[in-house]
Amino acid sequence: MLRIFATKLVRTQEKKENMAIMITDECINCGACEPECPNNAIYEGGASWKFAEGTGFKGQGEHPTVGAVDAEVENDPGSMDVYYITHSKCTECVGFHDEPQCAAVCPVDCCVDDPEHRETEEMLLAKKAFMHL
Ligand code: SF4
Ligand code: SF4
Repeated sequence: MLRIFATKLVRTQEKKENMAIMITDECINCGACEPECPNNAIYEGGASWKFAEGTGFKGQGEHPTVGAVDAEVENDPGSMDVYYITHSKCTECVGFHDEPQCAAVCPVDCCVDDPEHRETEEMLLAKKAFMHL
């Protein structure tokens, strides 16, 4: 009985853990995911990215996970070869959709959880609020 309870508790904790989404090298550069992202967090390989793109954020501010940022600064590409997701703009679609839209449309299932960027639902909502207020 105790073991069943403990297993349920672990499953519950695992379910609450959220991660940003990342694109793997399996990407075939079809571009289907890019227009689906509510945060404009997906970019083509080799393209630089800005916080201002696809968000309401202007000027400077204190991002919930990366600290002081400037909306208009051009940041280096996350990949030169395939589409990439900038984790500081990805909210795993929390606050917009029930599931990550990039993963839902990807034909080769290469939009996966990013173990390097684990965030709580509260943190993901704080990122959304920061970008879209
Ligand atoms: S999970 Fe949602 S917010 Fe994150 S990159 Fe994919 S579509 Fe964008
Ligand atoms: S939908 Fe999948 S394969 Fe197509 S560009 Fe996006 S990550 Fe790459």
